[in-house]
Amino acid sequence: MRYVYHWVVTLLTILVLSACNTRFLTVYPSVETDPVASSDDAADDPCIFIHFNDPSKHAIIGTNKQKGLVVYDLQGKTLHSYDFGLLNNVDIRQDVRWNGDQITIVGASNRTDNSIVFFRLDEKTLELKPLHRKLFSSAVDEVYGFCMYASKNGLFAFVVGKDGVVEQWRLSPTAAGQLTALKLRSFDVGGQCEGMVADDELGVLYVGEEEKGIWKFGANPDDAIKGVPVQMIAENKALKADIEGLTIYYQPNQEGYLIASSQGNNSYAVYTRADNNQYLGSFQIKSGPTIDGTSDTDGIDVSAARFGKQFPKGIFIAQDGKNNGANQNFKIVDWQGIEKQLAKDPLPKN
Ligand code: CA
Ligand code: CA
Ligand code: CA
Ligand code: CA
Repeated sequence: MRYVYHWVVTLLTILVLSACNTRFLTVYPSVETDPVASSDDAADDPCIFIHFNDPSKHAIIGTNKQKGLVVYDLQGKTLHSYDFGLLNNVDIRQDVRWNGDQITIVGASNRTDNSIVFFRLDEKTLELKPLHRKLFSSAVDEVYGFCMYASKNGLFAFVVGKDGVVEQWRLSPTAAGQLTALKLRSFDVGGQCEGMVADDELGVLYVGEEEKGIWKFGANPDDAIKGVPVQMIAENKALKADIEGLTIYYQPNQEGYLIASSQGNNSYAVYTRADNNQYLGSFQIKSGPTIDGTSDTDGIDVSAARFGKQFPKGIFIAQDGKNNGANQNFKIVDWQGIEKQLAKDPLPKN
């Protein structure tokens, strides 16, 4: 496995560097979710829940930014829908140690009252229940992007405003098991930012500055506040503003990928996690025989878990800005197909 990964990464790096070019691979959706209940721009950001014992209980949780959260099963069927407010971005952490218990926490940015909100996912019923009574008001100008970061130092949330200011909060349980959040620091990335993801193992926070590119920061609260460019839009023709969702495909030994939604050209750019985030290529989700492809994508998520025979190497999920004939939804793609494409297709020559 490790050998294959290195072979793929080395080959791709050689191909990309030698041609100094970009490439767009094509994959097709396997499943789509039900459309969200709201029309216009409504679906935004998905996250994936993996049930460790019961494959029928895997789930996708997506934001309807005009209404709240929707829980889908892996066939895309709506299980639960919640009017939690104008929730924009969502993230999840499983197996969180919580007063001697292990729980699953779903968090989101809430534009109704400019706060961050948290829910506990019931692993049996896949229902979401509020995990706090207090309001965690953000000082950023319009909460927008959101992600969580789980490390040996604890559990954290990042929220970024349209003003480009990132806040980091520490999340912990009260004696009664409610969640409490404490703001630790804030820093300014520059322009408007939304997509964010934390690498829990490498201690890195990636932030997408929509019109500029992808930055990384130390994710621990005492890390220096200095943004390192991963890749700017101006450096790679495969990227076209806005940079939107970011997500991480984890493999052992720091292997795996960072993936970014390049909204302006309906594609997804793939980078290595380690080795200074080498660009490996981009893919697009085109229309298949029954399910339309994706365009104008906001949020994305990926999981490397085995989802049975259908998705042996995991799934990639993308919000679809134009779902043919219906309200927006989310498309699910077999990750194995993406990785195969990345490994085999040579770069085009222009
Ligand atoms: Ca949108
Ligand atoms: Ca955006
Ligand atoms: Ca968005
Ligand atoms: Ca579409």
